Amino acid sequence: MAELTERQKYDLKRKIEELKQCKGKHTELISLYVPPSKQISDVSNYLKNEQSQSQNIKSKTTRKNVLSAIESILSRLKYFKQPPENGVVFFVGHKSIGSDQTEMVAHVIEPPLPITTYLYRCDSLFYVEPLEIMLKEREIYGLLLIDRRECTIGLLRGNRTELLKYMTSQVPGKHGRGGQSQRRFERLTEIAAHEWFVKCGEKASEIFLGEENLKGILVGGPGPTKQYFVDENYLHYEIQDKIIDLFDTGYTDEFGLKELVTTASGTMDELKIAKEKKVMKRFLKEVTKSEGSLAIYGEEQIRKALEMGVIDTLLLSEQLRRYRLKLKCSTCDYTKEITINEDELETFNPPNCSKCDKSTLMEIVEKVDLIDELSDKADKTGGKVIIISIDSEEGDSLFSAFNGIAGIARYPVEL
Ligand code: ZN
Repeated sequence: MAELTERQKYDLKRKIEELKQCKGKHTELISLYVPPSKQISDVSNYLKNEQSQSQNIKSKTTRKNVLSAIESILSRLKYFKQPPENGVVFFVGHKSIGSDQTEMVAHVIEPPLPITTYLYRCDSLFYVEPLEIMLKEREIYGLLLIDRRECTIGLLRGNRTELLKYMTSQVPGKHGRGGQSQRRFERLTEIAAHEWFVKCGEKASEIFLGEENLKGILVGGPGPTKQYFVDENYLHYEIQDKIIDLFDTGYTDEFGLKELVTTASGTMDELKIAKEKKVMKRFLKEVTKSEGSLAIYGEEQIRKALEMGVIDTLLLSEQLRRYRLKLKCSTCDYTKEITINEDELETFNPPNCSKCDKSTLMEIVEKVDLIDELSDKADKTGGKVIIISIDSEEGDSLFSAFNGIAGIARYPVEL
């Protein structure tokens, strides 16, 4: 399957979040997935049939709501001669907006990947699972840390490190009490170590074999034990084949997982998290320069730099959750733009017009996700856009220390 761009992923993720917030009072939210191969006329006929079936719905309000949702989809279908390249999804229905009130919502989505199955569903929630599957992370690496005392098994899913299993051994230390029993002690120790490695090998193989799309395995740990473990084939042969490399880490516990990922991303540029870390390090290095710094941060500064077209790389935190609103005065047509947080949106009251009559309230005429708005601006001036998760330490600092918006300029500028 094709990889989605970061922007496509972000937009789809936000769309799913929005759809998930819609709740119907009854089973009256319709989700309709139309694959690219489906005839539009077949879909219309199917809906007309659903329409006559829905006449039997007992509750009057539910019946009315379902029928109007179907009607709405039917009228939207008229705009299509055939489904778009990847098909189309309709989410239509009356969502509950509290105190017995409902509001009609209609989303028509052309997904970034092809829809494979035709599906009609009427429920109290929108059915978003097929879209969520498109978002599923396909860059997955197995992580294994091992020495004679501890074993930790985990996964690197995109940027996220997951701990799946932590085990400790009963293998005694290498040094016995000396004397006659020394040889016997050593032999017992080796038997115990062998059993430990078998146990770890089996557990790791079981976990990794259960993971579809595993791109490779990174093995870590201090000292030579990990090499011995790999050389002696303690892992299932299919898993053995997926080992990419061995890395020295100081820890073999949960902390070691992060250490392993950081160490590996130093040499493996193909790791997604490596790209994030690298670009953030470049930015942070610029921040500390006292002269000729290329670092720019803060929304206002970034806007100025984008307008001048000097942004080489725009860094946006996936966690931003902000909107850019365009406000307009209906009397004098004066417009202005402001940025607000998602959680302020619901209680937001537009201000009075500052241009003409101060008693005229301005109206929201446009609402765009801030990430989309800034990305478009960067695209237009040839800047790269990198949407950064908060899963790495660097990504976290972009969000918390730089308010989630930063950039690297093409050359030093005075803003
Ligand atoms: Zn005005």
